[in-house]
Amino acid sequence: MDKLQSKVALVTGSSRGIGRGIACRLAQDGALVAVHYSSNEQAGKQTVRQIEEAGGQAFLLHAELGAPEAVSELFGALETELRARIGTPRLDILVNNAAYAGFTGAMPEDVTPEMFDRHIAVNAKAPFYLTLRALDLMPSGGRIINISSGMTRTSLPSQICYAMSKGALEQITLQLALHIAPRGITINTVAPGVTNNGDPVFDDPATVAEMSAWSAFNRVGEVSDIADVVAFIASADSRWITGSYIDASGGTLL
Ligand code: NDP
Repeated sequence: MDKLQSKVALVTGSSRGIGRGIACRLAQDGALVAVHYSSNEQAGKQTVRQIEEAGGQAFLLHAELGAPEAVSELFGALETELRARIGTPRLDILVNNAAYAGFTGAMPEDVTPEMFDRHIAVNAKAPFYLTLRALDLMPSGGRIINISSGMTRTSLPSQICYAMSKGALEQITLQLALHIAPRGITINTVAPGVTNNGDPVFDDPATVAEMSAWSAFNRVGEVSDIADVVAFIASADSRWITGSYIDASGGTLL
């Protein structure tokens, strides 16, 4: 319950889905959580409310990642909030969770430059610069957690844009791990498989049965399946793990 007491976490894309689950779990473990959203302010407020009703602490930040100046705006607002709340702009945990999953279904030869740029901008470039900014505020014991996807370990040509962008995200983990280790900061990738994020597709029993069969446990993932893994990586217990790809897909890749 108190593993993250007096820690500060920023979870991007925590207005909904997996991000909301992660934000709630980190708050439950004692962290002050910066909840971030892009377009769905109501959902962002709902995450904050959910955390506060459970006795945790959170505040809301907005930024449309991929837009110019988004990272600066997000960190400007974050630093202002943290100065007001804890007296210093310290960030202990960054979870790069927000993502653009266009799921365009475009085969490689149909990928437009716009599709390519959008995926890379939101899923790779934004987390890279968010991570650099976060490192300016991060003390020893800090944690960077990149949420990727099992899709980087399987061939699905119709999702090439998304998979390429997540592959780039995983390189941020790998390439920064050695660079930041001397500061006592870890960086890891957590890769979910199909996870019920509240999308209406998960209300269709036939589709859910089909997706369940991909997992070794014959079910789709729940948000808590991912949030529990992230909570461990965010805690001091994970101190000996860095630069890793953590398969949180319920055995989908076996
Ligand atoms: P959702 O679609 O449920 O939520 C996406 C979140 O990201 C929302 O909070 C949304 O904000 C935010 N977001 C989207 N685009 C932007 C943007 N341009 N700038 C800022 N914020 C943005 O996602 P999931 O919960 O399904 O996925 C979470 C993570 O898990 C993603 O990285 C995804 O790639 C990964 N993942 C998910 C899987 C799944 O089956 N669900 C499988 C494998 C990986 P807003 O509410 O304001 O729109």
